[in-house]
Amino acid sequence: MTLGKRKDHVYSCLRCGFCFDLPAEGNRRICPPYITHGFESYGARGKLVMARALLDGALELDASVAERLYACTECGACEAQCFKYLPLGAIYRAMKMDVVEQGFLPTPLGGVAEAIGTYGNPYGKSVEARHAWLPGNHRLGGKAKVLLFVGCTPSYLRRGIARSAYRVLEALGTDFSILDEEGCCGHPLLSMGLVSGARAAAQSTFEAVERAGAEVVVTPCPGCLRTFREEMPQLLNRVLPFETVHLAEYLASELEHHRVRFRRKSSVVTYHDPCNLGRGLGVYDAPRRAVTAVPSVRLIEMSRAGEASFCCGHGGFVRAVHLDVAKESAADRWAEAIDTKAECVLSACPACNTAFLEARAATGSQVEVLDIAEFLAGVV
Ligand code: SF4
Ligand code: SF4
Repeated sequence: MTLGKRKDHVYSCLRCGFCFDLPAEGNRRICPPYITHGFESYGARGKLVMARALLDGALELDASVAERLYACTECGACEAQCFKYLPLGAIYRAMKMDVVEQGFLPTPLGGVAEAIGTYGNPYGKSVEARHAWLPGNHRLGGKAKVLLFVGCTPSYLRRGIARSAYRVLEALGTDFSILDEEGCCGHPLLSMGLVSGARAAAQSTFEAVERAGAEVVVTPCPGCLRTFREEMPQLLNRVLPFETVHLAEYLASELEHHRVRFRRKSSVVTYHDPCNLGRGLGVYDAPRRAVTAVPSVRLIEMSRAGEASFCCGHGGFVRAVHLDVAKESAADRWAEAIDTKAECVLSACPACNTAFLEARAATGSQVEVLDIAEFLAGVV
């Protein structure tokens, strides 16, 4: 039982409840599946009660326990608020590994894992279609100091983000290449608890980047970035010989070194912190620095921003099994964005971008929704 390794942490829970209700903010709820389903077993405290019962042999792991675990968007809000600083994400992952081992992975997620194994992407799209968005093939498979790691979602579903990231790097005069054999980095597999599959994906990605001779990997996807920065070194038990940055960080650094100047764009924007980028990797300032460096742009923060940001509901592949959680959370966050009266809602993640596009469509709003790459590609 992998959960056994987290026993001390599980038993340290005080059952105080700060991980789903914030008393200082009028008991404001922070956990998407708990908000949607209303049962404690969907939130952190309830999951730790389940974990303790599993460890004590008072509960058997079954499909209903798995159903609770895979309703989690992995937003990290509970861990950020935990009164005991417990590594909640690591505890949930250990529980998921046990779920996988005992054969209770929800069927739709099994299909996602199979698609990654067969096609190298979670959507079951053909390998050949991956680079169909590229304006030309001259950067494909070459060697360069900088590598643009596009990610599966920008490559297949949010191609405006892929094109914009490409355009930004070209406009900066960056010497960059793109892997012709790019495939899933392993992030979705790890999030499901499929560790050996995630390790295999991380290994082949690592080898491809090494072959490309890249010193810096730039990506517009926080999930891929988290894989490179945190998960790949752990899975492969090695220090990576290259740096990895989000496109927003790359731009913020170029600004700092006076290597880029943006054109004027009169706009009032708000920025949503993607959970993997913000709470996950602590990247809060770089996207804001990049956006506010555009002359005449005004940034208005949402009522919850930075570490207190609320999830868009689209992390952890939740929409494959709990579309209700994904939609309700996206609608709640969209309402917070609209409250700012901004003309444009920005994020720095293809999953958040999808969430906001769908939430906007559901309300018939005219407010613009853009990824930070798309916004900055228009002014670089
Ligand atoms: S905040 Fe931490 S210690 Fe308190 S109930 Fe939640 S998990 Fe347990
Ligand atoms: S990570 Fe987010 S969705 Fe998952 S239990 Fe914690 S607060 Fe809820």
